Amino acid sequence: MQIIDGKTISAEIKKEIAAEVAGLIDKGQRAPHMAAILVGHDGASETYVASKEKNCHSVGMTSSVYRYEENISEQALLEVISFLNGDPEVDGFIVQLPLPKHMNVDRIIAAIDPDKDIDGFHPMNMGRLVLGEDTFIPATPYGIMELLKRSGIETVGKECVVLGRSNIVGTPMALLMSRNNEHANATVTLCHSKTRNLAEVTRRADILVAAIGKPGFVKADMVKEGAVVVDVGIHRIEDTSKQSGFRLIGDVDYEEVAPKCSAITPVPGGVGPMTIAALLVNTMKAYRKNIAKEKR
Ligand code: NAP
Repeated sequence: MQIIDGKTISAEIKKEIAAEVAGLIDKGQRAPHMAAILVGHDGASETYVASKEKNCHSVGMTSSVYRYEENISEQALLEVISFLNGDPEVDGFIVQLPLPKHMNVDRIIAAIDPDKDIDGFHPMNMGRLVLGEDTFIPATPYGIMELLKRSGIETVGKECVVLGRSNIVGTPMALLMSRNNEHANATVTLCHSKTRNLAEVTRRADILVAAIGKPGFVKADMVKEGAVVVDVGIHRIEDTSKQSGFRLIGDVDYEEVAPKCSAITPVPGGVGPMTIAALLVNTMKAYRKNIAKEKR
C-alpha cells in the first residue's frame, strides 16, 4: 500500500515556486504579493491565514493580512475588496471563509476582481472551470489533481467517486477528474446526502475522494479492494495521549480503510499541505497576469 505523501510533494512544488521567485528577484523584479482578508477570530481561520502567510514567506513572496472585527459591515468589506482590486502591488487575494452571518458571501466573492481571485471562487472563474478554459482552479481540488499526477496514480478510464458536492471541493473535483486529458479522463460519479445506497456506489470506485465533512465516515465496507482513497476531511478530535490534547483525523476511517487500498492520503500530511501549495501556484499565475497587464 502506497501512502500518498502530500508533505513531500507540496515541498517539491514550493521549491519550484521559490526558484521562480528567486529568478524574478535576481532580474530586479518585485516579488509576487498575496493578501488575505480575515474577519473575526475563528480559531481555524486564524490558523489557515497564518499558515498561508508563513508559506508565502517561505517561497519569497510578499504577504499581507487585512484583519477586521466580526461586526464590520458588508459595505465596509466591499470597500476593502475594491481597494485590493485596485492596488497594483497586490497580485491576488483571498477572503477567508466562513464570513459572519450578516454578510452575503456570494456578493462578497463576486466583488473580487476575477484576475486576483486566487481561490477561484468567483462566478467567472467557476464558469471558466466548467468550460475547461484557463482559470484559477480552487486550491483543494487542484492540489488533489497534482497529488495524483505526481504520485503516478493512473486516472484514465477509471471509475472515480467523489463524496460531497461543495462548490469549493466536490464539484470542481468532479469536473477536473472528468476532463479530457492524460491526468484525468475518469468516469465520475458525484455523491451527496441524497445519494441512495451510498456504500454500493462508493464500492465501485477505483479512486474515491471523500469530502463530506464527517469524521471517519468512510468505512472499510464502503471501499473496493485496491482502491485509491483521497481523504479531504480535516477534524480535530480530543486525544489525551497527545501533548496538544487533540489529533487530526479525516473523513475516512484510516485504520480500517488503509489495509484495503492500493494508495491512500494520510491526515495530516495528505491533501492539507497541497491546498496551500496550490494557492501559491495560483498567486504566481495572478502575478504573471498582473505583470502582463502592466506591460500593456
Ligand atoms: P461541505 O460544504 O460541508 O459539503 C459536504 C458535502 O458532503 C455536501 O455536498 C453534502 O451533501 C455531503 N454529505 C454530507 N453528509 C453526507 C452523507 N451522509 N452522505 C453523503 N453525502 C453527504 O464540505 P466541504 O467544504 O466540501 O469540506 C469537506 C471536508 O473537507 C471537511 O472536513 C473540510 O474541513 C475539509 N476540507 C479540507 C481542505 C483541505 O485543505 N484539506 C480544504 C477544504 C475542506 P449535500 O450537498 O446534499 O448537503
